Amino acid sequence: MRVISCAPLEAEGFANGFSTRAGGCSHIPPRGGALNLAGFDEDDAANIHENRRRFLKLFRGDWRLATCRQVHGADVRVIRGDTPGALDTGNERCDALTTNAPHILLGVQTADCVPVLLGDARTGACAAVHAGWRGTAAEVVLAALARMRAEYGTRATDVRAAIGPAALGCCYEVGAEVIDAFRARFAYAGELLAPTREEHARIDLHEANRRQLTDAGVAPARIHAAPLCTICREDLFFSYRRDKKLHGRTGRLLAVIGRSDE
Ligand SMILES: [Zn+2]
Repeated sequence: MRVISCAPLEAEGFANGFSTRAGGCSHIPPRGGALNLAGFDEDDAANIHENRRRFLKLFRGDWRLATCRQVHGADVRVIRGDTPGALDTGNERCDALTTNAPHILLGVQTADCVPVLLGDARTGACAAVHAGWRGTAAEVVLAALARMRAEYGTRATDVRAAIGPAALGCCYEVGAEVIDAFRARFAYAGELLAPTREEHARIDLHEANRRQLTDAGVAPARIHAAPLCTICREDLFFSYRRDKKLHGRTGRLLAVIGRSDE
């Protein structure tokens, strides 16, 4: 099992990680042993829970996992430390989670969409964000930042961000719907789009999220991105776009962050 983690976030007291596809017990074509961590409609719940158990063992200490039912929007859910019982019901509809309570791992699931983890060492607040093209167009990462400010007093200048593996500009071609949404919303959309054929372009959602964070006041040096593409790195990741076409189904990766100290 291999996990990608952001060392600077870790050094500031935030356990964090982006999962990869190996080391699990699911059979997700073309391979077995897949670490599928969500997507209950495409895999047995028992497999997913066993995979989650293995994944969470990588993080020292006791953690409760909080997830949500992602809907490609910009709503943010606050996870309180005194929330009773299991947090990983996954039934609350939102695309970002935030907390300042220790020993809660906030998790977002992806398979091409962009996972963004935010940590604010000054207040102890953190957030996990799911930003596909719709969420990126809706500026969900800024919604998470605003909620951290409202709940915990987070200042953008104190935030460190880790942007995880996603469908990147090398592979992710989109059509008119996406192109129009970005052109309508962002004056700099042309910098995110590389035209391919008529009414199509490859879009760089890493850069889009980075741009939103820097425009909000997060220093570029405090934004760390894993330059790994889920579509072309089949050895490492599930990809909704690639696997659905080839095999009819895919697994889900999980990106998690949590405060390890009291
Ligand atoms: Zn690629």
